[in-house]
Amino acid sequence: MNEIEHCPWHEMQWAILTRDLARLPHALLLGGQPGLGKFAFATRLARSLLCDSSGPEARACGSCKSCLLVRAGTHPDLRLVEPAEEGKPITVDQVRALVDFATTRPHTAQRKVVIMRSAQAMNLNAANSLLKLLEEPPLGDVFVLVSDRPTRLPATVRSRCQLVDFNPPPRDAGTAWLAERGVAVGKTDTLLALAGGAPLQALVLWEAGFLDQRAELFDDMEAIRRHTADPVSRAARWQGLGPELCLEWLQRLVSDLIKVAMLGDGAPGLVNADLASRLQALVEGLNLKQLYGFADAVSQARELLKSPLDGLLLLEDILIRWRRVTQ
Ligand SMILES: [Zn+2]
Repeated sequence: MNEIEHCPWHEMQWAILTRDLARLPHALLLGGQPGLGKFAFATRLARSLLCDSSGPEARACGSCKSCLLVRAGTHPDLRLVEPAEEGKPITVDQVRALVDFATTRPHTAQRKVVIMRSAQAMNLNAANSLLKLLEEPPLGDVFVLVSDRPTRLPATVRSRCQLVDFNPPPRDAGTAWLAERGVAVGKTDTLLALAGGAPLQALVLWEAGFLDQRAELFDDMEAIRRHTADPVSRAARWQGLGPELCLEWLQRLVSDLIKVAMLGDGAPGLVNADLASRLQALVEGLNLKQLYGFADAVSQARELLKSPLDGLLLLEDILIRWRRVTQ
């Protein structure tokens, strides 16, 4: 299992939840947007629950046999369940295997721990199968469900779990955390804004070179507005960068454009605040009503991306719409 990423903004939740590990609810649902460290939290909790000699504040010792097995990803009393691939469901067979695991006695620890990542990816049969386990949990077992979209889990499953909400930390905490990981000073604010305040997501964007990609995307939006670029050829480039990433950014850009159209380039809370003067130029003379219509189209396209529809076609449609908005 991954090395634990230390997230200082978890300390309060950690303290509340681990006050008495013996009384921890048998099922937890860690929910919140991507990039807040929910999985790291789940792993840390598993390590503490399995540690042979956890210390104050439920800290795992880091050196007992259990801690070493967790670190190596081979602890026999810990099971990780996740989709076989991103975008694929968690299947009923995966959950059935879990039933076998959970209903036998622990091998070395006091209890068994299950972490389910992307729990919202369970299909209906899988969720029903899990529900049976959660309704009559094997004594001592702890189930930790992790989800970026907890509301997509069936209400029956959610109601069996104690919900633990994760929210973006204060800006300073995110900035300090990113700086410790070598992110250039001066870029942290923009990255955090682009990541909706989620530090781990901001780090992913930094490591993927997203700031350079964003510069290209912004250039394309300007060039299409000037009619010096063809929407279809630009859509092919966006497809190469990843439709989901591009549309997510575009949604934030359009929201920025609407704010600037109404309040000027000093509008508060701009995601692309470092490009405020270019935002002002990009939105100059556009019809606000049409911009709202465009914003709806982008958000619909993001939803449609989850269906089998071709991403390239969606991007072409969106960029052709953008040209129409600017005419
Ligand atoms: Zn230990």
